Amino acid sequence: MMDQGLAVKEVDYEQPQNDVQHSGSVCATKHAWARVPVEPSVPQRAALKDKIRRLLKEKNAVMVSHYYVHPDLQDLAEENGGLVSDSLEMARFGRDHAATTLVVSGVRFMGETAKILSPEKRVLMPDLDANCSLDLGCPLDEFSAFCDAHPDRTVVVYANTSAAVKARSDWLVTSSCALDVVQALKDKGHKILWAPDRHLGGYIQRETGADMVMWGGSCIVHDEFKAVELEGLIAEYPGAKVLVHPESPEHVVALADAVGSTSAILKAAREMDARTFIVATDNGMMHKLRTQNPGKLFLEAPTAGNSATCKSCAHCPWMAMNGLQDVVRVLETGANEVQVDASLGLRARLPIDRMLAFTAALKSGHDAGSLVPNIGAA
Ligand code: SF4
Repeated sequence: MMDQGLAVKEVDYEQPQNDVQHSGSVCATKHAWARVPVEPSVPQRAALKDKIRRLLKEKNAVMVSHYYVHPDLQDLAEENGGLVSDSLEMARFGRDHAATTLVVSGVRFMGETAKILSPEKRVLMPDLDANCSLDLGCPLDEFSAFCDAHPDRTVVVYANTSAAVKARSDWLVTSSCALDVVQALKDKGHKILWAPDRHLGGYIQRETGADMVMWGGSCIVHDEFKAVELEGLIAEYPGAKVLVHPESPEHVVALADAVGSTSAILKAAREMDARTFIVATDNGMMHKLRTQNPGKLFLEAPTAGNSATCKSCAHCPWMAMNGLQDVVRVLETGANEVQVDASLGLRARLPIDRMLAFTAALKSGHDAGSLVPNIGAA
C-alpha cells in the first residue's frame, strides 16, 4: 500500500532558480525558449551539417542525440556512426563507443551520465543550460532529507536527476527498465522510495503493487496531456491506437493502448496493427515515428483545453535549446565540456552500473532478479 506521507515538491519553473547543484544555470522555461536557436536557412543548414561531419572526423567525436531534439541533430547522429535513442541507450552507447569525444544533444543529466560512465572521454553539449523540470525539482538537500526520513526504504531514482541525487540512490532507472527493476526489488522484499516523477512512480506502483513513497516532481511536457480532450480525439479517430509515455497523468495513461518509454512507443508503432496513432509524448518523437512508419498517420495527443497553460505545446524547451550552430561551436572550440567531480562520479556510477547490468541480463535472457539482493542481505 502506498504510504500516506506523499511528498509533493512544487517548483515554479517560470522563475530563475538559484540552483546550487548547477551553479549559473538558467532554468526558467521562458529563458529556455528565449535561448532556442534561430532556425537556419536552407543553405546555412547544409553548410552547418557539412562542417559538423568534417569536425566529427577531425576530433574523433561521435554524436549521441535524444529523440526529443531537433530532427537535424537526430539525423546527423545516425548518419555519422552515432545514435539517436532514449537516455538508457544513450548512456550505454557513449560508454561503449571508441570515440574520445561524445557530443550529447539532449539535456544536462544526459551529458552528466555520459561523463560519469566515461570519465576519460570529453563530453560536450550544445548548451549546458539545457535542463529538465524533474532534475530542477529534486534538489539534493531536500531529497537527502526525504531519504533520511525513510531509512528502511531502497532509494530508486529516475535518470532525470543530477549526479548528486544519483549518488544518494541505490538504484537508477529509466522509463524503459523502471517496471522490471521495481518488480524485482518488490519480489525481494524491498520497500521503495521513488523520485522524482510522481506520474511514472504512480504508474509503476499501480502495475507492481510495490510499497512506494514518492517525490512529487513532474515533467512539464507530459504533465500537460489532457484526458478529456484525448477522449474527444479518440472518438474522432475510432481505429487509432493510443501510445502514452508514463510520465503522463494517470487519466491519460488509462486511455492508452500501449504505455512505455520512447523506445517502447517506437516499437509499438512499428508492430501494432493500426494505421493511425495518437501519441502522448514530446512531439520531437514525431520525426522518428514518421520516418520509420511512412504509411502511418501520427497525431499529437492534445495538450490544449481545460487548464492548459503556456507550457502546453508538447515540446520540451530545454531539448529545443540544442542546435546545429552550437554543435559546430563546441566541436571547434571545446566549449561546453561537461564536468563531474571525480569522487561524486564514482558514487553516482554505482546505481547506474547496477541498472546497466540488470538491463543487460534482461536482454540476454538471464535472471536479472538475481542481481537484486534480498532485503537485509549485505
Ligand atoms: S521532456 Fe520532460 S522529462 Fe524530458 S527533459 Fe524535458 S522536462 Fe525533462
